[in-house]
Amino acid sequence: MQQLNRVRNILLLLVLHLTLYAQKPEVLIITTGGTIASQTNAPLIEGSELIGAVPDLQRYAKVQVVEVFRTGSSKMTPAHWLRLSHFIDSVAQQQPQLRCIVITHGTDTMEETAFFLNLTHRHSLPIVLTGSMRSSNEVSADGPANLIQAVRVGIHPQAPGKGVLVVLNENISAARDLLKMHNRRVDTFGPDQYGYLGFVSPDTVLFYRSPLRPHTLDTPFDLRQVKELPNVEVVSDYAGFDPEILDYFYGRPNAGLVVSTFAGGRISAGVTEGLRRLTPGGKPIVLASGIKSGWIEGTFSQRRPWITANDLPPNKARILLMLALTQTNDPDKIQEFFHHY
Ligand code: ASP
Repeated sequence: MQQLNRVRNILLLLVLHLTLYAQKPEVLIITTGGTIASQTNAPLIEGSELIGAVPDLQRYAKVQVVEVFRTGSSKMTPAHWLRLSHFIDSVAQQQPQLRCIVITHGTDTMEETAFFLNLTHRHSLPIVLTGSMRSSNEVSADGPANLIQAVRVGIHPQAPGKGVLVVLNENISAARDLLKMHNRRVDTFGPDQYGYLGFVSPDTVLFYRSPLRPHTLDTPFDLRQVKELPNVEVVSDYAGFDPEILDYFYGRPNAGLVVSTFAGGRISAGVTEGLRRLTPGGKPIVLASGIKSGWIEGTFSQRRPWITANDLPPNKARILLMLALTQTNDPDKIQEFFHHY
């Protein structure tokens, strides 16, 4: 009899456990590689292995894993962004039950992928990117904690409507504001001049702010039919810049150019001369400050025929210019995009 009772209790517990699990929010984790998937002196680990090593995730969500690609993010290209964007679009259509998507990604270009998705993910399904600064087999690896925090943020009732989010080291950043600030430390991201949107503690997720610049559902950048993004390059100014460097861009198949400027959007005599020679070519040129905080003023005009990137740094200005070029070549309209997004 005692034996029977014990078996019955175990079965009841099992049913209870399964019922509770079935009620958990569904989360898709998309893996793309990065340090979070790396091991010292060994190849990057596969997505399912990476997620399987964090069983605590099951406490918060029912998790599916898909590896879209596996690469160090310094090797990421616009073709990877497009693939990711098309994949996310099909998932958002086909799996309306999902509560959020979490993307594991290298930190080298996380600023770029996050901003790209922030402007092109035209759904309400929250997206949270995360990664790590330490390899998965390093002492005190930060990947597992970051992954759990990203899932907790993604399923939080206040996550929708804030655009693409990035969670690392207990901080929640808006994709537009993400700024990599340290080569090695686990708190590599920010805070930038705008600060974090919120924080994650062992027991709570706390949001304090919301981004104001339009994102996700409020953008016009529909990439569903786009097979290739316009090619935009970035050139950095410095003391004594040789204008001939810009001549190189005459014959290039690039659709536009971003110049990383000094503070306030100031440029050297070499860049000024090089741009004057390039401008009649008709390709839009954007000036973006290479200084990490503040903004630059100005607007496209006949006298100064260059678009101003406002507070966007050169890598993000490049992304906005690429997206703008999928819609228009008109510099006044492109300038409007920079005032708006
Ligand atoms: N090499 C890594 C990357 O893929 C660096 C990182 O993830 O922190 O970006």
